[in-house]
Amino acid sequence: MAQRRGDTGHVLDRYRGFLLDIDGVLVRGKEPIPGAAEALAALKGRGRVVLLTNNATRSRQGMAARLAEAGFAVAADEVVPSAYVAARFLRQKHGPVRFWALGEQGLVEEMALAGHVPASPTEAEWVVVGMDRGLTYDKLAQALRALRSGARFLATNRDPTYPTEDGPIPGAGAMVGALVGMGFHPELVMGKPFPEAYRVALEVARVRPEETLMIGDRVETDIRGAQELGMDTALVLSGISTGEDMDRAGIRPTWIARDLASLVRGELHPQQG
Ligand SMILES: [Mg+2]
Repeated sequence: MAQRRGDTGHVLDRYRGFLLDIDGVLVRGKEPIPGAAEALAALKGRGRVVLLTNNATRSRQGMAARLAEAGFAVAADEVVPSAYVAARFLRQKHGPVRFWALGEQGLVEEMALAGHVPASPTEAEWVVVGMDRGLTYDKLAQALRALRSGARFLATNRDPTYPTEDGPIPGAGAMVGALVGMGFHPELVMGKPFPEAYRVALEVARVRPEETLMIGDRVETDIRGAQELGMDTALVLSGISTGEDMDRAGIRPTWIARDLASLVRGELHPQQG
């Protein structure tokens, strides 16, 4: 079923924009996925490219630096992490807010860059939550204090786990779950599959959903959310989801490809129609 260049053109010619997930598409842990750096460069020659990740531990700058170390040429303004989505959303909807973060440096950085002000748990208007590899009982107690003091609850994302070279580790969903276990539920969730993540990425890429291909490795987040906004989708099998996961979830992406390099070569297998 693979399509190639020829008189019918390249199958990717129909898209002006490409949104790409990072983990499982470009890298696995710190390791680049073979051929992905060249494929990303080729994709940039075809249209607007934005990397959209639920990972809230790094700022745009931090994420671009991490990718540079792995051999990818990416500018900070081509990356949209869920920490940035959260900071931008709060700024647009509520102006600068006082926040307390259950999360890592990248989340605090993006909040501050958007003009939000770090505050003590009792003075915070918002508790913003992301994956936190320095989570402690004391931090949970502070989050509880903030929420009981009336702070509103924003989750950057609810990914249950995060992939590393040594297997999955607890993701932001585990931190959110700890607060849910204390009786508080997020009022807002920013990351994929929720629409705000894609809206910001489309805005940054300056493309419309109907001319954009979302490329990701998780059917239940990357693919599901993009479909709901009317984007075409490509599932790559270089990360979390397998073809069987796709069948089990009952989600049919537009295309399926072995990895990003195959996709850019036009080795896309249609799943719909
Ligand atoms: Mg992924």
